Amino acid sequence: MYHFSMTIDGEAVSSDQTLSVINPSTEEVFATCPLGNSAHVEQAVQAADRAFTSWRELDDSVRVEKINALASILEANMPELTQLVTQETGKPINGLNGIGSVMEVGASIAWTQYTASLALGNDLIEDSDVAKVEVIRQPLGVVASITPWNWPLMIAIWHVIPALRAGNTVVIKPSPLTPMSTLRFVELASSVLPAGVLNVVTGEAEVGEALVSHSLVNKIVFTGSTQTGKHIMRSASASLKRLTLELGGNDAGIILPDAKVEDITEKLFAAAFHNNGQTCACLKRLYVHESIFDDVCTALAGIAQAVTVGDGMSEDTQLGPLQNAQQFSKVHHLVQEAIAQGATVLAGGKPVEGKGFFFAPTLLVDVKHGMQIVDEEQFGPVLPIIKYSEIEEAIELANSTPYGLGASLWTGDVEQAQRIAARIESGSVWINDHGAIQPNAPFGGIKQSGLGVEFGEYGLHEYVALKTVKVCKA
Ligand code: NAD
Repeated sequence: MYHFSMTIDGEAVSSDQTLSVINPSTEEVFATCPLGNSAHVEQAVQAADRAFTSWRELDDSVRVEKINALASILEANMPELTQLVTQETGKPINGLNGIGSVMEVGASIAWTQYTASLALGNDLIEDSDVAKVEVIRQPLGVVASITPWNWPLMIAIWHVIPALRAGNTVVIKPSPLTPMSTLRFVELASSVLPAGVLNVVTGEAEVGEALVSHSLVNKIVFTGSTQTGKHIMRSASASLKRLTLELGGNDAGIILPDAKVEDITEKLFAAAFHNNGQTCACLKRLYVHESIFDDVCTALAGIAQAVTVGDGMSEDTQLGPLQNAQQFSKVHHLVQEAIAQGATVLAGGKPVEGKGFFFAPTLLVDVKHGMQIVDEEQFGPVLPIIKYSEIEEAIELANSTPYGLGASLWTGDVEQAQRIAARIESGSVWINDHGAIQPNAPFGGIKQSGLGVEFGEYGLHEYVALKTVKVCKA
């Protein structure tokens, strides 16, 4: 059984309460850790605040060196971190189309290295006889990071690394459902980082609340549900903390009539079902032109029936369980409700019998807007497929959601797709792919999917304040 401590001010910290972490494939406890409280938050924020002065004053090249050292630590501990991620999330080691915990740890390394390689200089915007004007980028102070359970290590890295790179210090609170890979990463990181620069406190919502409302926290980076994001925004308003909010989504995909069905279905299926649909930018609603609707449905159903569902620790497993009992019940309920409202099941439609939160990959047709399975972020292995006849109708339906995270267009006519992309209301649009993120392109939501972006220089700049320094010469 694994047990890791919290790390605060460079020290291993315990608590009088214990958190038991369940492996969703077995429904058994596989790890324990201390359950943090508001006193731990106080300790961690004070430590981060003390560490800020010397961390910000380090030469940037030293921070870059340390961040590259963190990438090496991730690399050296890849087997253990991979197993931790699989056991706490249920995500398979390899996974559908290679989207599993090996990829999660691999991407954590790649994003860390890329963020270390970025330039973070100042801008000289005028140097004339009259004035010299420089725009200086300065760190913000203590950053509070709050993460969800679906990609626990990768999202922790997306928060922590740019914050540190820009000269801030961090207190991270992982989801109480999946704290282990984050606890282990922070423990390992303390061999490289000065005490207090990166701290981790575990806990439920009230611990998160204590962290995001702390007066010494200047910036919050949050990934999670839209509902919690709104709550955090209210808490942040008391002292006008800066915010990056990466929230929920209900991504649409539109297949145009000229798409080559046999070329796209494998990618389409993985876009909807990898990690059991528990990825913010999974394909969640599919609009298919009537001329190819039946062909697309038949091809997707063929893949759904052949997919291997099971314990993620087996290297052959493509889809694992849902991450937790609540998520499992929600998905089950939404599918049953859709069936009661007239949906036809092309594949799956029910839980897999036995232990674990397993639900068969499910394709539904005869579904429409107004049904919760279409309108809500169901965050499970379910894809509602909707027939359309005119592209205008599909664009309107795709946009008719409060969310605006990602969307995709599937076609051979890239120019037409680019014109349509401009009209889609989302932070990303992928043409002939979905959810294809990369470390140098900004990723974030519009509408109720979030505020601000992550990745690359765009994301790095969310962790600095701009200061104008003007030397008047005349
Ligand atoms: P959640 O909002 O329930 O919880 C996320 C985190 O917030 C957890 O650590 C939780 O303990 C903490 N929390 C809860 N209430 C809090 C409060 N009042 N103050 C401070 N912290 C609080 O989300 P979840 O169920 O863990 O994750 C799934 C959600 O995350 C989905 O909606 C998904 O779309 C979203 N998500 C978005 C992105 C993105 O990049 N846009 C990426 C991954 C997941």
